[in-house]
Amino acid sequence: MGVDYLIPDWSILQNPTHLLLTHGHEDHIGAVAHLVKDFPKIIIHAAPFTAALVEKKLAFFDLKAHIEVWHDEPLTLGDLQITPVKVNHSIPQTRGFLITDLKATTPWCLFYISDFKIDLSGQAGTPFDLAALQAQTKDFPVRILLADSTNHLGRDQSSLQEGDLYLPLKNIINQHDGRVFVALFASNIYRLQTLTRIAQETSRTVIPYGRSINTYLHTAQELGLLAEDLPIQEEHFNPLNPKNLVLLSGPQGDLRGALRRVASGESPFKLGAQDAFIFSSKIIPGNERRVHQIINRLAEQKCRIYYPHKYTLHASGHATQEDFATLLKAFAPTDFFPIHGESYLLQEHYDFVAQNFPAIRPYIIHNFDQIEINPDGQLAIQHQEGTHPLFIAGNTILEKEAVSERRKMGTNGVIFLTLEAPAKTAAHYSFLKSLTKRQRKRENAPRILITMRGLPLMLQEKIPLLQNALAQKWMALSPEESTDELIFFTKRWAAQIIGYRPEVVAHFSTTPER
Ligand SMILES: [Zn+2]
Repeated sequence: MGVDYLIPDWSILQNPTHLLLTHGHEDHIGAVAHLVKDFPKIIIHAAPFTAALVEKKLAFFDLKAHIEVWHDEPLTLGDLQITPVKVNHSIPQTRGFLITDLKATTPWCLFYISDFKIDLSGQAGTPFDLAALQAQTKDFPVRILLADSTNHLGRDQSSLQEGDLYLPLKNIINQHDGRVFVALFASNIYRLQTLTRIAQETSRTVIPYGRSINTYLHTAQELGLLAEDLPIQEEHFNPLNPKNLVLLSGPQGDLRGALRRVASGESPFKLGAQDAFIFSSKIIPGNERRVHQIINRLAEQKCRIYYPHKYTLHASGHATQEDFATLLKAFAPTDFFPIHGESYLLQEHYDFVAQNFPAIRPYIIHNFDQIEINPDGQLAIQHQEGTHPLFIAGNTILEKEAVSERRKMGTNGVIFLTLEAPAKTAAHYSFLKSLTKRQRKRENAPRILITMRGLPLMLQEKIPLLQNALAQKWMALSPEESTDELIFFTKRWAAQIIGYRPEVVAHFSTTPER
């Protein structure tokens, strides 16, 4: 329905002064530009890579903000001290925050960790330093954990790490003589590292195709997360070169994404049986239909398709139960809040802790709820009435009513009625509210123009019939009846023919007096 993304409605926030960012994924920084528009003085704290991504995003909206690049030094805000903790995730420089209150009667620490996993191999960023976390927190009598639940059910991927993908990907890329296309999350810099390394080793040229993949690639190179001398060709490439390794963003079937454009022939790459497509990403629930559409398109063009259900092509960036249990052992929380997952995942996560870790008190909270830490270290939850998310389309907020109108027009088609009459008469029935029988004479009748959009041709061919029927209906309207009657009449008329009611919009126009 043309909605690009949702952002929270923060109208209940009272002039926030600081924003702390854990990492640069779209679902964590996508709303920052809108927040900066509402609170231009807010100070943003983020690790260098996250800060660079936010800056580019703001520049896209022609905005500037006060961004403090955070090199992991403790930050003091009022009585609170906040220390970043390095964790693993599918984007570099992801941080958890360890928060303590310097003046608390009962010392407490709170570890806030949004998206994370544990990868001790060192092949996907600095390993999560569990020992340091344990050393820093073990003496606090109250230890509160807020942690990501997104992948809590992903038991089957417990041991798959980024480094495990190198060989399977290299084998597939190596065994192909033709072009290889890889669809991936553009922000997954570790995957870009793996793929550019394979390209070097197999003498292929990397072609990053799509705006977002180029943005992430440049930002990673600017910050030294990717080498500068990689075999990457962004422009003036030969699309037909069989040694191309083409990296495509939009693996979720995004409507304007590179993957979709390539699959539907809207790119310089003309596809055929010599091409292989690797899906190095999972499908985010809800996007299945879009992605399968694309896979079908590729299959029809005889491309070879490699998909994660059969091959090892993707490692999740989120903690499994095993990772989570490791974290619980290191941090040993007294209180636990599952966050950042759908409602059933939060409940699963809650149950997992309740059943397996009797020493931990689990809670469920919802957006905008407040956790109060009392002087004795006991917690209390203040429930807040939530607000609904806002729809963003292009640069602006789209109201809920407008989205619903779009849905109706998109689903049922629309009929536009224009009732045109000379100004003198039109003023009389301005429009129709109280027309006497005399005024509703045939010579005063408006000219009815009809336009249809998104409706079957056989209905459009009946426009003259509808014009006649409406003219008769107009003559038969009683003084109490309004133009709305013409709308209802048109809906019923169409439904009798096509079996459903289209949207109908009526408006009036005046013709100059003759
Ligand atoms: Zn993330």
